Amino acid sequence: MNDTVQTTAVRPTLEVRHLIKHFAVRQDVFASLLREPLKVHAVDDVSFTVGREETFGLVGESGSGKSTIGKLIARLIEPTGGTMLLDGEDWLALRGAALRRARRNVQMIFQNPYASLDPRWTVESIVAEPLSTHKVVPRGDVHGRVAELLRAVGLEPSHAQRFPHQFSGGQRQRIGLARALALNPRLLIADEPVSALDVSVQAQILNLIQDIQERYHLSLLFISHDLSVVKYVCDRVAVMYLGRVVEVAGTRALFRRPLHPYTQALLAAIPEPTTKRRRIFAAIEGEIPSPIHPPSGCRFHPRCARARALCALETPEFRELAPGHWAACHYAEA
Ligand code: SF4
Repeated sequence: MNDTVQTTAVRPTLEVRHLIKHFAVRQDVFASLLREPLKVHAVDDVSFTVGREETFGLVGESGSGKSTIGKLIARLIEPTGGTMLLDGEDWLALRGAALRRARRNVQMIFQNPYASLDPRWTVESIVAEPLSTHKVVPRGDVHGRVAELLRAVGLEPSHAQRFPHQFSGGQRQRIGLARALALNPRLLIADEPVSALDVSVQAQILNLIQDIQERYHLSLLFISHDLSVVKYVCDRVAVMYLGRVVEVAGTRALFRRPLHPYTQALLAAIPEPTTKRRRIFAAIEGEIPSPIHPPSGCRFHPRCARARALCALETPEFRELAPGHWAACHYAEA
């Protein structure tokens, strides 16, 4: 993908360039002697930028690689190839103590806040832990800072001695957010932050994330399988398919005039607001292919209604088809 896939004139908070992540597949001894080691192509040559105070959406089906990208950026796992710059500095070059110090700059909230909160710790301990570890405030100020953070996410400081199981799903997500904010990060990664919550609570948490982003001047990478949520929250969106980004555009442009056949199929499948069940990916023919043996050429060709002979032979170039609107399709035109 071209290195210039960005729209912000000022230096972006995050630049991801040609990021690759392959996972080795476990095989028995005989199989490994007989053939090349198998690998899952989770992320293949992905590039994008997240601008200052921008909300950048990463959307795709399960298995598209979007959550792997979140973990790579948070340095929870290491990439197979590629580079990442955080505020212009080589983020992947950091190791050991330097990495531990710099981790405060990139924080993550997860789909299931309960799994990321230690059930034996009080809320006060959970939110105070990063403050103490990174010595963000003097020890005597930790209690007051925790109260401030709880208030910022809409929780009562008087509930700080309670345990995670005493809170609802939405409140737990607020605790996770308070913990992430404790370190004043430059970049917040939200991986499906509302998909485990009741629909009635989702809008409250999305509004809170937007509010927090503005108040704390955060750059936000918002990962979701749900286009209607992405439309509501994001400034720009990257659509992923089988480890690759197939389209990047401003949210309005993407929803008004998607250029890639995959994005077009996704948008055509969004149900009317009156439909209760969401069947976002159901209208696309066929199963998503195996990331161990991804299709040749354009990876979408086995499911694409517009595929021609060239599509199976050549990987389409990622082209800017309108200002700030990029797509990887041999036949897409603005
Ligand atoms: Fe479809 Fe071919 Fe475009 Fe891929 S390159 S999206 S298969 S038309």
